[in-house]
Amino acid sequence: MLSLKNISKHYKAGNLKTSILNNIDLDVDAGEFVSIMGPSGSGKSTLLNIIGMLDEPSEGYQYFLNEPIHQLKEKQRQALYKQNIGFVFQAYHLIDELNVYENIETPLLYHDIKGAERKALVADMLDRFQIVGKKDLFPSQLSGGQQQLVGIARALIVSPKLLLADEPTGNLNSKQGDEIMELFRKLNKEEGMTIIQVTHSEKNAGYGTRIINLLDGRIESSKNI
Ligand code: ADP
Ligand code: ADP
Repeated sequence: MLSLKNISKHYKAGNLKTSILNNIDLDVDAGEFVSIMGPSGSGKSTLLNIIGMLDEPSEGYQYFLNEPIHQLKEKQRQALYKQNIGFVFQAYHLIDELNVYENIETPLLYHDIKGAERKALVADMLDRFQIVGKKDLFPSQLSGGQQQLVGIARALIVSPKLLLADEPTGNLNSKQGDEIMELFRKLNKEEGMTIIQVTHSEKNAGYGTRIINLLDGRIESSKNI
């Protein structure tokens, strides 16, 4: 599904160079459910953003679905992203001017899906995440947990080949969090969805098939579970 070769990321401010990721080599096969763990500041979000083509590495080669990402133009990267990736952002990134219904519907507008089918898909998500009653509200009218659920619904509505999720249960209560992890496990096992999540939770990581530990921008360990 994807391959990172010798990926590094650094920021320069004057003469000062800060390394965030160092020589990352990573292959993820279709059907894996990977959890990225590690201390705060170890580079987890940066790595996830690079995998999702939302951030560019400073060095290295990157392939997604056999496409050499490092050689593509921004427009081609965006098209590849929209067709194949669902992203659950740590800070939700919902569109403030759109209501819950419209936020969830947005990714469908990049796909050739007719109005009636769009309605059915959104209704299914509202139902699945028990937010039917919130559909006319705007993000500012929702709790953090509710916004997180909307963000997950939006990421899943296109049945992406690759789901990337940055602390997807960080603002949910433990029951909701467990339900989301059960859902991810089911999507992975039954529908073959490839999933990569960033998590601090050993328990959440236990739902997946592989745990990668980052330390100081390097992969310290990677083991199947
Ligand atoms: P994690 O997700 O493991 O907490 P991050 O990938 O968010 O780690 O960040 C890793 C390090 O990179 C942090 O020290 C953070 O301050 C730094 N960092 C992230 N984005 C930038 C940026 N745009 N400019 C400079 N430093 C950054
Ligand atoms: P407009 O106001 O643009 O003329 P409508 O009010 O008929 O159009 O809605 C157009 C589409 O907006 C609907 O088909 C649906 O996809 C979407 N929509 C937006 N918000 C909601 C909502 N809260 N409940 C149901 N559908 C909504």
